[in-house]
Amino acid sequence: MGANAVEIRGLTKIYRGRRGEPEKHALNGVDLDIPAGCVFGLLGPNGAGKSTLINILAGLVIKTAGKVTIWGFDQDVNPRQSRASIGVMPQELNLDPFFTPRAALEVQAGLYGVPRSQRRSDEILRLVGLEDKAHAYARTLSGGMRRRLLLAKALVHHPHVLVLDEPTAGVDIELRQMLWENVRRLNDEGMTIVLTTHYLEEAEQMCDEIAIINHGELVAQDSTANLLSRLDGKTMIIHPEEEVTELPQAPGIEVERRPDGALALNYQARSTPAEEVLAAVRRAGIRIRDVQTEQADLQDVFLELTRSR
Ligand code: ADP
Ligand code: MG
Repeated sequence: MGANAVEIRGLTKIYRGRRGEPEKHALNGVDLDIPAGCVFGLLGPNGAGKSTLINILAGLVIKTAGKVTIWGFDQDVNPRQSRASIGVMPQELNLDPFFTPRAALEVQAGLYGVPRSQRRSDEILRLVGLEDKAHAYARTLSGGMRRRLLLAKALVHHPHVLVLDEPTAGVDIELRQMLWENVRRLNDEGMTIVLTTHYLEEAEQMCDEIAIINHGELVAQDSTANLLSRLDGKTMIIHPEEEVTELPQAPGIEVERRPDGALALNYQARSTPAEEVLAAVRRAGIRIRDVQTEQADLQDVFLELTRSR
């Protein structure tokens, strides 16, 4: 096992068109490495190919071409070990309505060949807050409870890699917090986490590393910090006490006058500290009534990278 939990090379998926529909190229030669031990975010607009990629990892969708290695096991050479290394919480709520949560976990453990002595269904139910519902039929569970059960199912075989496809889309705050607490704790215990989300703030807070996918192609992969610093430009807006006659001047600072009389000072945060910007304003004899800053967030990076080409 190298430093990567998952390695993907040239991954391609073409869905055959049904009844005269054209075929759909969902993934076009994606190369991706997911480092072991991290929380990894896979982001992209609707239809980008995120679920397709994740379902290929899970063995639920058959790839058209390419190579997938999970925890050192090539999916085509060692399918059983590769599947045993990964647990997937799918986007769809696909549960058997006649199983109770307890039974669903036992069946899942059986499918993965977990010996009875190593099963810990009750512990997992507690972990996801379903211990009271252990013996309720799945069809009587609320949407949130079904999601909890899907997470529980993904955990029965102690996978090295846990994949969550849009785990928090449309869920309430309580469930969202439960999910993120579990993700943090499992990651602290050494589990590699891969998640898709379209809540960029969430990705910013949760993920160490992020890949952005658009139209079946990888458009960026970097640490969250690096992605954010790609847009290092900041703007300080100064609202002066009285009309400005002399504009502030300093190397690395570009000044614009706004129609409302405010001054917008553009600078690169890494090379020019905010203190220097303020000093230039004071040197120009400007008295500051109010000051604001504007800076890029993941939303800007995302929009820039996925703007339709
Ligand atoms: P995402 O999860 O990023 O929203 P998906 O992987 O679900 O994207 O879908 C990628 C593209 O593949 C979309 O254009 C979608 O319509 C198409 N697609 C997904 N599943 C199928 C399928 N079973 N048959 C045909 N096309 C599909
Ligand atoms: Mg999806």
